[in-house]
Amino acid sequence: MTDEWHATACNLCYVNCGILAKLDETGRVIEKIKGDREHPVSRGYTCNKAARINFYQNGRDRLTSPLRRRDDGTFEEIDWDTAIVEVAQGFRAIQEQYGGDKMLYYGGGGQGNHLGGSYARSVGPAVGASYSSNALAQEKTGLAWMNGRMLGGSWHGDFDHCDVALIIGKNPWQSNGMQRARIHMRDIGRDPERTLIVLDPRRTETAERADIHVALKPGTDVWCISAILGRLVQTDRIATDWLDEHATGYERLIEQLAEVPVEEYAAFAGVPIEQIDAVADALSGTNRIAVAEDLGIEMSPHSTLCSYLNILIFLLTGAYGVEGGVYLVTGITGGFILDGGAGTSDDDGYEVAGPRTPVTGARIVQGLVPCNSIPEEILTDHPDRFRAMLIESANPLHSLADTSRFREAMEALEHVVVIDVAMTETAKMADYVLPASSQYEKFEATFFPMEFPENFFHLRRPLMDPLPGTLPEAEIHARLVEALGVFEPGELDDLKAAAENGLDAYAAAMLPKIMDAKINTYLPYVLYRTLGPSLPHGAADAASLWGLCQHLAMKLPDHVRAAGHEGDGPALGNALFQAILDSPSGVIILKGEVGDATQWRRPDGKVNLMVGEMSDEFAKLGDFELPGSSDEFPLVLAAGERRSYTANTIIRDPAWMKSNNPVSLTIHPVDAGKFGVADASIARLVTKRGEALVQVEFDDRMLEGTISLPNGQGMTYPDGMGAEPRTGVYLNELTDLEDRDPFVGTPWHKHVRARLERVSA
Ligand code: SF4
Repeated sequence: MTDEWHATACNLCYVNCGILAKLDETGRVIEKIKGDREHPVSRGYTCNKAARINFYQNGRDRLTSPLRRRDDGTFEEIDWDTAIVEVAQGFRAIQEQYGGDKMLYYGGGGQGNHLGGSYARSVGPAVGASYSSNALAQEKTGLAWMNGRMLGGSWHGDFDHCDVALIIGKNPWQSNGMQRARIHMRDIGRDPERTLIVLDPRRTETAERADIHVALKPGTDVWCISAILGRLVQTDRIATDWLDEHATGYERLIEQLAEVPVEEYAAFAGVPIEQIDAVADALSGTNRIAVAEDLGIEMSPHSTLCSYLNILIFLLTGAYGVEGGVYLVTGITGGFILDGGAGTSDDDGYEVAGPRTPVTGARIVQGLVPCNSIPEEILTDHPDRFRAMLIESANPLHSLADTSRFREAMEALEHVVVIDVAMTETAKMADYVLPASSQYEKFEATFFPMEFPENFFHLRRPLMDPLPGTLPEAEIHARLVEALGVFEPGELDDLKAAAENGLDAYAAAMLPKIMDAKINTYLPYVLYRTLGPSLPHGAADAASLWGLCQHLAMKLPDHVRAAGHEGDGPALGNALFQAILDSPSGVIILKGEVGDATQWRRPDGKVNLMVGEMSDEFAKLGDFELPGSSDEFPLVLAAGERRSYTANTIIRDPAWMKSNNPVSLTIHPVDAGKFGVADASIARLVTKRGEALVQVEFDDRMLEGTISLPNGQGMTYPDGMGAEPRTGVYLNELTDLEDRDPFVGTPWHKHVRARLERVSA
C-alpha cells in the first residue's frame, strides 16, 4: 500500500461524503478509507458503507470492451470506432424512419456520477430526441410537482439549528438523505431542548432515538398528517400573521382542515390521539421546525398528497425561510433540482398546461417521463411509441416496477444502447454496451449538494487511470456527436485556440457565441472539445462546469462573492470555476442569508397553498379508502428497505455485505406465528405479480401486518468459477406497474400487498 491519501467522495448515497483513499502498490485497489476533514460539509463524517467502495471499483463484472449483440443473443467484442459508428447509425435510422422523438434517454447518473450525464445533453439534439427519464421519476416527482406549484424550488430542513426535527417515511440512520445524518439524529434525540419526531410503521434505528415515534399503520400517513394539521388549525395554533404576509390561496385549505375529524383520522392511522396532540404541541411551540420526507411516503398510496401536506406543516407553522426551519436550496445548477419544471395553474389552483407523454398522456414532471409509464409508451401499436433507448449509468430493468413488463418493452425496442461500468441486468438486454470508466477513474461530481445558506461543490479527481478498454462518458458522448456530423471539421478551432490562452481569453471568445442556437444546443460538447483539452490535471471531463459557473455568477453574483470568490461578470464565473478545479476536497461556492430573495421564487414573491388537485384529493380522505387492501394479501411489504449493506445496485458483489441481515425478509414474530413460518426458515412470498423464496428473520421492531425486504438485491454476480448465482430477492419481479400515484405515476414500492406461505422441508 502507498502512503498517500487521495481526496475523493463516497458514491454510495446521495450525500457523497468526502473521503480519503489509500491505494495498494498496483494503484488499482482501494485499500483504506477514512473521512476527509477538509470536506466543507461532511467534515470527516462517513457511515459504515464508505469503507467498502473497492467492491464497486473492482467488481468482477466490470466491462472492458464495447459489446455488440449477435443474432443468437450472445455478445461479441468490437472496437470503439465500430461501436460509435454503429450506435450513431442506429439512432439516425430511428430518426429518419420514425422521428428522433421516438428515442428515450434514461439515466444520466446515479448517486455519485452526474458529470457524464451533462454531456448526454448534446447527443439527444443530434438525433432530435426530446424525452428523458430516470429514477427520480419513480421517487420524487410528486414532491417536485408540489414544490413547483407551492414554493418554486426544492427544500431542505435545517437540522443543524432546528428545535423540532420531523422525519416522515424515512430512516436517515440508514438512508442518510442529509449530511452527517447519524450525528444529527443522535444529537437531536439526546438533547432535552429539542424534539425528534419520526412517523414510520417500523421502529427503525432513527425511531429508536426519537422523542416521539408515531408507529402508524402503513399507507395511512396522509390521515395521520391531516389529523396533526387539523388539530393545529382547530386549536388556532397556526401562524396566521405569517400566512397573511407570505402566502396566497390558503383560505379553502384552512376551511378543509377545520373540518377534519381528528380522532377518526388518528384511529384509522392506528395512532393514539395523545400522540397526535403531542406532535401538534411540539410543532406549535416554535417555528424552528426541520422536515424531511422520503420514499416511505413517496412510494406509497397518496404519495403526492402526502408531499403536499408535509409542505403545509412548515408553511402553516411559519417555519419557512427562517433559521432552524426549511429553506429552498441552491446549488451549482441554480437550484433547479426538484423544482417541478414548467407548468401553469388557473385561478382555482388547477394545472392547466404542462408536458405529457406521447402515447398515454401521462404527466411529465421535472422533464421526466414517469418510470411506470415507460412500458406503456413502448408496448403499443401507437405510431408515437418509443422505438429506441439510450440508457446511461442506470439499471432500469432491475430498479423499475414490474420487471417482466419492462423486459417485454426492452425486447420490443429496435435499438437499445447501454453505457455502464458493469454488465448489469439492463446491459444484458442491450444491442450495444459501451463500457464507461468508473467513478474513481475520471473527474466526477454530483449536482446533489443542496444546502443553504452555504452550499458546496465537490469535483473529485481520479484516483487511478481508466480501466483499459473503457472511456469516460464525456468522451463517449463527444464521439457520438462527431459520428452524427453535427460540426464541420475546424468549426470550433477559434474557441480551442482561445482556451489555450487561459480562462479569461476563453470567456471573451465564448460568451458572445453562447446565445448562438447551435453553440447553445451543443454547449456541453463544445466546452468539452474546446476548453477541456486546456484544463489542468487532465480535467477535460469537468469542462461543462464552466458553463454552470458562468450561469451562477450571473444569477447569484452576491452569493458567489460572499463565498469568497472574487470578480465581476465572466471573471467571477472563472474564479468560481478555478476554485472548483483547485479544491480536491470540495469548496463552498455560494453563501446566502436566511430569508433572502432566493427563498421566494414564485413570481409574486409568496408561497402558494392552493393546489386544486390536492384539495379535491384531500376531500376524499373521509372515504377511508386505502388502495389495494385485500384478504388474499393481508401483509404490506416494504420493498426496498435501506440497511447497513444495501446501496441500490451500484455494488454488485454480494461479498461486500458484512453480517447484518442484507437479504432476509423481516417480520414480527406474531405475524410469523399466524403464517406458520419459523425464524431463519425459507418461506414463499406471494404478491399479485409474482412470488419468491425468502429467508425469514424475526424482528419485533416491525409493526404487525408489515414485512420488509432490502433494496438492491436479487442481482446475479460471477462467482469466479463460471457460474452467476443470484443473491437475495429481485423485488421488481413482485411489483405491479399499475400500483402507482394517480398524478405522477410514482410506484407504491413501499406498499406491496403480499402473503407468506410455509415451504415444507
Ligand atoms: S453511504 Fe455513508 S459514507 Fe457513503 S455517502 Fe452515504 S452517508 Fe456518506
